[in-house]
Amino acid sequence: MFFPFGFGGYGLYLLISLPALLLGLWAQFKVKAAFGKYSRVRTTTGLTGAEVARRMLDMNGLRNVEVQQVSGFLSDHYDPSRKVLRLSPQVYQTPSLAAAGVASHEAGHALQDQQGYAFLRLRSTMVPAVQIGSWLGPIIFFVGLFMAGASQTGETIAWVGLALFAATALFAVVTLPVEFDATRRAKEWLSTSGIVYQQEMQGVNSVLDAAALTYVAGAIQAITTLLYYAFLLLGRSRDD
Ligand SMILES: [Zn+2]
Repeated sequence: MFFPFGFGGYGLYLLISLPALLLGLWAQFKVKAAFGKYSRVRTTTGLTGAEVARRMLDMNGLRNVEVQQVSGFLSDHYDPSRKVLRLSPQVYQTPSLAAAGVASHEAGHALQDQQGYAFLRLRSTMVPAVQIGSWLGPIIFFVGLFMAGASQTGETIAWVGLALFAATALFAVVTLPVEFDATRRAKEWLSTSGIVYQQEMQGVNSVLDAAALTYVAGAIQAITTLLYYAFLLLGRSRDD
């Protein structure tokens, strides 16, 4: 994310974005704490994350989706283009409640892909625009803002930058139903399949709910940054 400190609107930026930043940090902390805690709690069934994901995929007719190990911490993800589910070592190899939760959440994304879940499709089509807009948007915006005092063209350029960056914020919002839905599928399948016993679900829930909160914080951060840009530009327009 782009943090435009030193633009005179420093106080305004903090006022708008600080609560979202703090929420984001708190959510990150909660995920790490919950994941750490429940990585040490073994499931009764004793299945590793890789085995949990494999079972969930197979039981839903997704034998073609491969489960692989990928390096990194909490780097778990589903790749819709390659139909591959990649799990971090701590999830892939460990028979813990945290691993079962994360693995089934990722398998939930594979199920969304299989069923053509609308928000996942929308999210995937937005990726190219977001990859460009997230870094080029703020650059174009601030170039335009610098020029805005001297010319009308500058202001137009700034609005173009703002629109590009808005795609990033929209992407973060569209991510929310995708993540909530994958978590819902994971919880439902884990409890109904008997992979995780009912009394163990609390551990799974606290890991997945904390992860969901990071996405909420991310969306709020993107929206508040967008609002800050808009305030800067509108404030600038009034001065002319
Ligand atoms: Zn996810």
